[in-house]
Amino acid sequence: MTQHRPTIVLVHAHPDDEASSTGGIIARYSKEGARVILVTCTNGELGDSPDGLAPEHDDHDTAEVVRHRRQELERSCEILGVERLVLLGYHDSGMMGWPQNDLPNSFWKTPVAVAAARLAEILDEEHADVVVTYDENGFYGHPDHIQANRITLAAVEMAKVKPKLYYATIARSAFAQLGEILARHGIERPDRDENDESPEMGSSDEEIGAVIDVEKYVDLKRAALMAHASQTAQSFFLQVPPEVFKVLFVQEWFVRVQDPTNQVGVEDDLLSGVR
Ligand SMILES: [Zn+2]
Repeated sequence: MTQHRPTIVLVHAHPDDEASSTGGIIARYSKEGARVILVTCTNGELGDSPDGLAPEHDDHDTAEVVRHRRQELERSCEILGVERLVLLGYHDSGMMGWPQNDLPNSFWKTPVAVAAARLAEILDEEHADVVVTYDENGFYGHPDHIQANRITLAAVEMAKVKPKLYYATIARSAFAQLGEILARHGIERPDRDENDESPEMGSSDEEIGAVIDVEKYVDLKRAALMAHASQTAQSFFLQVPPEVFKVLFVQEWFVRVQDPTNQVGVEDDLLSGVR
């Protein structure tokens, strides 16, 4: 029998979320020998097409977008060191209020228990030690991100394994620092509609249960983001010089939701108590 390696399962909504939200920890823990598994819930049908067309455009070819984003996702997984990629295959629900919310196979319309049962099976099969997803607001209110939270909570409840559970987030104090770092480099902050500065986004510093140093892996995170070029080519953070990107993304933040190993204080390692 092979020995069980510390195993982390990340539950993300769309192809590219793994890189933007948790690229640092995926790279770090896979390099440190953990088994990292990515569950991507939707196919990302409503992303931009490879030639830059928005989903509402008449020539936006959904099948082509899905094919292309899948290739990008596989490349990102290779870069970051994801050992197993599981695609749940639900249809992208689009932003809140879009008609696609109601498509029969949309992730948002899928009963939580149905998707959660599939996820619970993966958690048990992999003997998951750590599970990472978003908070109940889906970090920024996207229905597929909210649904990822709901199915993950239900799956952790259903599964036989009792993993540590974290929400990926950003400490609000880090938003302020981000502005300072950008200003120091003479870069204007992104507009409010970039979703990056809403006061509701992220978590208060008191809520943060783990701050993970990913400084050594920032280049891999950036490369993974770049692998999702159809979605990220125009991204503000890929426009800033690589050396500034490096300073901005040296850490990733997490809320500790469930922890059978009873860690106290702010952890610097998601695997503490596990390995
Ligand atoms: Zn997403």
